[in-house]
Amino acid sequence: MNQVSTTQGAQGAQGAQGAQDAKVTIVGLGPMGRAMAAAYLDAGYQVTVWNRSPGKDADLVARGARRAAGIGEAVAVSRLTVLSLIDVEALYGTLGDTDLTGRVLANLSSDVPDKARAAARWAEERGAAYLTGGVNVPPTGIGQQGASVFVSGPKEVYEEHRAALDVLAATDYRGADPGHAQLYYQLNMILFWTAYTGWYQAVAVARANGLTAADILPYAGATADSMRGFYAGAAPLIDAEEHGGEYERLAMCAASVEHVLHTAADSGVDTGILAAHAALYRRGVEAGFGADSSSRLIGILGGTSAT
Ligand code: NDP
Repeated sequence: MNQVSTTQGAQGAQGAQGAQDAKVTIVGLGPMGRAMAAAYLDAGYQVTVWNRSPGKDADLVARGARRAAGIGEAVAVSRLTVLSLIDVEALYGTLGDTDLTGRVLANLSSDVPDKARAAARWAEERGAAYLTGGVNVPPTGIGQQGASVFVSGPKEVYEEHRAALDVLAATDYRGADPGHAQLYYQLNMILFWTAYTGWYQAVAVARANGLTAADILPYAGATADSMRGFYAGAAPLIDAEEHGGEYERLAMCAASVEHVLHTAADSGVDTGILAAHAALYRRGVEAGFGADSSSRLIGILGGTSAT
């Protein structure tokens, strides 16, 4: 199932369909939608843009994008419409009763998997083909090497529009289930947001002790880099349900997490997140897993085996 496209940036468009004739519509001109429209202009596409509120398309129109008079015209002009809205559900209010017959919608707005599935049904009932996407980079990464976007939906629709989507970011096809692109995206976001909140918590404790964010940056970077090794070492053991405590015992981890909690408390900063963290580790020890690996916490969190 792992199918990360190798084409990327403008190469994807020009290689597959001759960008001079290629048309695309972008609906939603927040920072992400504007970056997408700009990437298509760079790649030579005929770009049509539409946004709920006026005034966000000036730079794009100055560069040659066409401003649609309304959402109906926007969707009618190009077979492929890329949506970049606040969430997947904004699709309903945006498209309303627009005729979608024969249109292809690639909704690259973020949301939860079930809402992506419902939106796919809604669009397909109105005659559109529908792809879901989760973009893994900020607007500055669109069209750049290393950018990726999870895509899911009907395989033939993906194959037909893969080159166009690769203009934005290398597509990583996650299967026919329209919810899967969002599922993979949200899994990444779990990792991202917990790590980012951890960074803010560390900076708060650092500041309370007279240190700056810059002071701890080298160590924060090294810790972030080390996580890949932790994941890679643990994944096969987790999947094999091997939770032996040969290298790290949950009881040791729980004690370490208590030290973190008390360092924050002694520094006078908010401990809400760290208290919840410590409580989870305590539950693991109280459940009798103190001598096992901390990976026992996956079960404590309710994560049952995938097999
Ligand atoms: P913005 O919130 O800045 O823009 C959102 C767009 O959605 C605007 O066009 C806005 O229209 C429209 N919109 C907002 N609310 C509604 C509504 N109720 N009904 C219809 N349209 C609405 O978001 P971004 O451009 O930053 O991001 C777009 C998508 O990309 C989001 O789903 C986001 O999660 C995702 N994404 C963003 C990243 C980023 O770093 N920015 C990174 C990865 C993914 P209007 O101008 O009229 O308000």
